[in-house]
Amino acid sequence: MVASPTPKVTPLRTLLLRLFGVFTLLLVLPFLKLAPAYESFAYLAFHWVALATSWNILSGYAGYFSFGHGAFFGIGMYTTAVLAGRFDWPFLATLPFAALVACAFALALGAVAFRVCSVRGELFALLTLAASFVVATIVLNTPIDGGPGVVLSGVAMPQLAPTPSGSFYLLAWGAALLAVVAALVVQHARLGLALLAIHDDEDVAEVLGVPTYRAKLLALGLSSALAGLVGGIHAMFVSYVTVGDTFGVTLPLTVVLMAVLGGTRHWAGPAVGAAGITVLLYSFTSGDSALVGKVVMGAVLIAVILFMPEGVMGRWIARKRGDDPTPVEAVPVAAEPAAPAQTLSPGAAPLLVTRQLAKSFAGVKALRGVDVQVHPGEILGLVGPNGSGKSTFINVVSGHYLASDGEVTFEGQRMEALPAHRVANSGIARTYQIPRPFEHLSVLRNVALPAMFGVARLGREAAETQARQWLAFTGLAGREDVLPAALNLHQRKFLELARALAAKPRLLMLDEVLSGLTPAEIDAAVALIRRIRAQGTAIVLVEHVMRAVMALADRIVVFDQGQVLAEGAPQEVMARPEVVAAYLGQALDDHTLPDGITMGAAHA
Ligand code: ADP
Ligand code: MG
Repeated sequence: MVASPTPKVTPLRTLLLRLFGVFTLLLVLPFLKLAPAYESFAYLAFHWVALATSWNILSGYAGYFSFGHGAFFGIGMYTTAVLAGRFDWPFLATLPFAALVACAFALALGAVAFRVCSVRGELFALLTLAASFVVATIVLNTPIDGGPGVVLSGVAMPQLAPTPSGSFYLLAWGAALLAVVAALVVQHARLGLALLAIHDDEDVAEVLGVPTYRAKLLALGLSSALAGLVGGIHAMFVSYVTVGDTFGVTLPLTVVLMAVLGGTRHWAGPAVGAAGITVLLYSFTSGDSALVGKVVMGAVLIAVILFMPEGVMGRWIARKRGDDPTPVEAVPVAAEPAAPAQTLSPGAAPLLVTRQLAKSFAGVKALRGVDVQVHPGEILGLVGPNGSGKSTFINVVSGHYLASDGEVTFEGQRMEALPAHRVANSGIARTYQIPRPFEHLSVLRNVALPAMFGVARLGREAAETQARQWLAFTGLAGREDVLPAALNLHQRKFLELARALAAKPRLLMLDEVLSGLTPAEIDAAVALIRRIRAQGTAIVLVEHVMRAVMALADRIVVFDQGQVLAEGAPQEVMARPEVVAAYLGQALDDHTLPDGITMGAAHA
C-alpha cells in the first residue's frame, strides 16, 4: 500500500522539553533582585496561568463550561487558611490538602451532575454556579469562617527565594508548570481526544466506545485539584481570607475570558490568554489608569469574540493548517485491514437476539415488542415505511437510547442495560442516518477515535495508521487532514462508515447509508458493503433503496408501526400482500420498490 503523507504532529516529548526549557528560564526571575512589586506581578501572572489552564482541562476541552472554579479555588483557600491559620500546620503541608479537598468536593458534584444526562451546556454552568453559592453560604455560616474571615499573618512563609514575593513567585511558577504540563499531557493522551469528542457530540462519542462519564469525572478531578492548589497558595499570598473576596463570579468569569481569548482547544491557549489579560489588568494599577486598563481589556475581548472566536492559539493552528495543505489527489485503495475470516453459518448460534424489545417516547410507541435475530456473517435487510421504528431499533440496540422494555442479547451477553460505550466495546458499531462527525476533529482523528477506545484500545499512532487504511478502504484517502465540513454528503456518509469500521465490530448496523447518493455511488457502496461482510462482519442494513437491499440482503425483516410485519427471504417477503400494503401511502415510486413489484401490483 502507498503510505499517506505523515502528519506533522510535534511529539509530546519535544513539547514537554520545550516547555520545561521555557519554565527553567523563568526560574531565574526571583534572583534578579527586582522590586517586590514586579515579583508580585509575575506571581499573579502565573497564578492566572495556572487557574485558566486548569479550568480549561474540563471546560475548554470538553465544553462543559464551569463556574465552579471559584468554588474549587475557594475551597483550596479555606483549607489552607484553616489548617495553617487555626491549626498551625506548616503552610507547605497544607497545599496537598487544599488540592485534595477541592478535588473531593468537585468529584462529588460531578458524580451527581454527570449522571444526569440532561445537565449539559448552560445547565451545567448554572449548576456549578449554584454549587459555588452553596459552598460560600456554608463557609460563611459555620466555624470554617463564621463571618470575620481567617487571618494567616502569623503563619511562617518558607523562604524559597531571597524575598517573600520571590518565594510566592516560585510557588505560582510551580503550580503553573503543573497545570500546563497536565493540560499538555491530557491533550496528547486518550483522555484529551475523548474530551474533544465529548465537546463536539457526546452521544456519538459514547456510542463509539468512549466512557464519557469517567472521562468527564477525571478531567473535573484534575481541574479542581489544580484550582485547589492555586487557592491554597493564594490564601497565604493575601494572608487574609474572606468569603466575599473568595467566592463570587469575578474569578470564574476572568478565567473563562482568559481561556477563550487564548483558545480553549489548545493546551497553551489559556496560558497565552492569562498572560495577556494579566499584563493588561495589572499594568494599569492606580486610579484613572485602572479604569483605562479595564476599558482596554473590554475592548480587546469584544474584538476577540467578534473576529477571533477560536482564540489566539486556535487562529494560529488554523493558519498552520492553511499554510500546509495536504495533497488531495487520490491514493490507491489499500488492502483492507485483515480480520478473522468468517463465513455465513446459518446453523450457528445467533449473534444478536432481541426479545420483545420496546421503546416509547412520551406516548409514541416507536417499538412495540420486536423479536429480531441476526446470525454471524449475514446481511439482514431491515426495511419498513418511514416512522416504523428502524432507526429506533438501531438506537436501542447500540445503547444510544435505553430500552423501555425487552431484552437485547449479543454473543450471549445481555446488553439492554449497558451504557453505550460498553455496547460498543462488546463489538457492535452503528452509523447515524444523518452523519454526525466530530466537526472540530480532522477526518483522520474522527476515524482513529473508535480504534483508540474500542476493544483494541490502540495507541494514537497505531490507531491513526489503521484509520488511514479504513479511509482508503472507503475511498476517503487524501482527505485525512481536513475537517468533516470540507466533505460532501457522500463523503460524510462514508466517513461515518469508516468510523464504524475502525471499531472492528462483529455487528455493524447501517442506517440508510445509501440515501442521497447517485446511482453510481450506490453501486460502489454496494460493492463496499459486500467487502465488509466478506471480512466476517454481520450487517443490519436499514435502507430505503430497495435495489441495494435486494442485491445485498440474505434475509429481510419488515417493520411496520414498531412491530415486525414480515420476515424471510427477500423476494418472497417483499411480495407478500401485507408488506406491499404497508408501503402504500408512502411516497414510493417503482424505482424504490423491489424488482417485480410495482405500484400497479401493489394496488392489485
Ligand atoms: P424510521 O427510522 O423507521 O423511519 P424512527 O425509528 O426514526 O423510524 O421513528 C419511529 C417513531 O418514533 C416515529 O414516530 C418517530 O417520530 C418516533 N421517534 C423516534 N425518535 C424519537 C425521539 N427521540 N423522540 C420522540 N419520538 C421519536
Ligand atoms: Mg430512520
